[in-house]
Amino acid sequence: MILEIHNLSKSYGSKMALENINCSFSEGIYGLLGPNGAGKSTLINILVNNLVQNTGEVMLDGKDIRQLGESYRSLLGFMPQQQALFDSFTARRFLGYMGTLKGMEKRKLNDRIEEVLSMVNLSNAADKRLGSFSGGMKQRILIAQAILNDPKILILDEPTAGLDPKERIRIRNMISEISFSKLVLIATHVVTDIEFISNEIMILKQGELVVKSQPAKMLEIIADKVYELHVREEELPKVSSRWRVCSMLKDNDIVIVRILSDDQPEGYDYRPVKPVLEDLYLYLFDDRIKPDTEVLERLKELTNKGWAV
Ligand code: ADP
Repeated sequence: MILEIHNLSKSYGSKMALENINCSFSEGIYGLLGPNGAGKSTLINILVNNLVQNTGEVMLDGKDIRQLGESYRSLLGFMPQQQALFDSFTARRFLGYMGTLKGMEKRKLNDRIEEVLSMVNLSNAADKRLGSFSGGMKQRILIAQAILNDPKILILDEPTAGLDPKERIRIRNMISEISFSKLVLIATHVVTDIEFISNEIMILKQGELVVKSQPAKMLEIIADKVYELHVREEELPKVSSRWRVCSMLKDNDIVIVRILSDDQPEGYDYRPVKPVLEDLYLYLFDDRIKPDTEVLERLKELTNKGWAV
């Protein structure tokens, strides 16, 4: 199975929300990253056939998804960002309702409901009303409805929105478990949600695809740009005005500052450190300092290489 996006653009009036996106997906987990307004929801809404693009197409195994219509939608599971739940419904009744909407046959549906409740670890809450669910339980029941029809393509929009760290980790692990042999696309602006479970990450910035590749490959590109400085507290203002600061840790009378720098931070007590995805994210999205054009070019090359395969 291969899902391809060709020359895809979408605008709302004069606002370009997506600009000439080209990439492809097969089975695996893909993390879709970008700050608010980057175009993630617009892309997802096009991929699930809820929104029509201005130009370009999305093809599943060489066929336009808009022409495939119902046969495409039957392969699809979608967890939208904000979904009003029916508070008075029990979990089991809600899934029954969603399954009926999806046109699932009643007998098969009842068995499948028990199966997915167990997959999202909600079997014990099957007869509880959704109104009494915690945030994490609500997210899990929304994932459950998305996988009811055993979709080959699963699209999750901000699946951990509003959750505490423990619940985030739980949802993250659950997503990896249910994703076997599916194409899963997870949109988020939280880097840690997808860093360790995605085969590939794609990053959108103001409607443009900055990169789509394996995390390790993109991190290689900023391998010589992340440093740890040991500075005195009074030096901090100078350091933060000069570099992008990823984090700071006070240790007695010194501060350990993790910075991004295109050059070696001469004049300071420093050591190079291994980049993580958050570093790349900050490198691309820090408003004050523009990313190096060579880095952007190399990220583009990576994306195109993946596309050519
Ligand atoms: P994200 O999901 O990454 O936050 P969106 O796809 O929601 O990004 O939005 C991309 C851009 O398109 C933003 O500038 C947003 O303001 C604009 N936009 C999104 N939906 C609409 C709409 N219905 N009408 C006008 N502009 C919109």
